[in-house]
Amino acid sequence: MSTTKARQTGTHVTLSRGDDLPWMLICDEHGGCCEFDSKRQAIYFRSSPINWCEWCADNWRGTDYAG
Ligand SMILES: [Zn+2]
Repeated sequence: MSTTKARQTGTHVTLSRGDDLPWMLICDEHGGCCEFDSKRQAIYFRSSPINWCEWCADNWRGTDYAG
């Protein structure tokens, strides 16, 4: 399990083992999570939580760096 800071949103994301799929990303700020088949996929999406955390997506849309 490892936590990194997503540059896109400035929020922290944890890579962990999933329940249904082998890998899971968790947004530390909001508790949003998404599961992935492969670690490569999970790492690819780790830096862009707006794609899988609905709260990050909302926040991102609401800020002036959207677009
Ligand atoms: Zn989030």
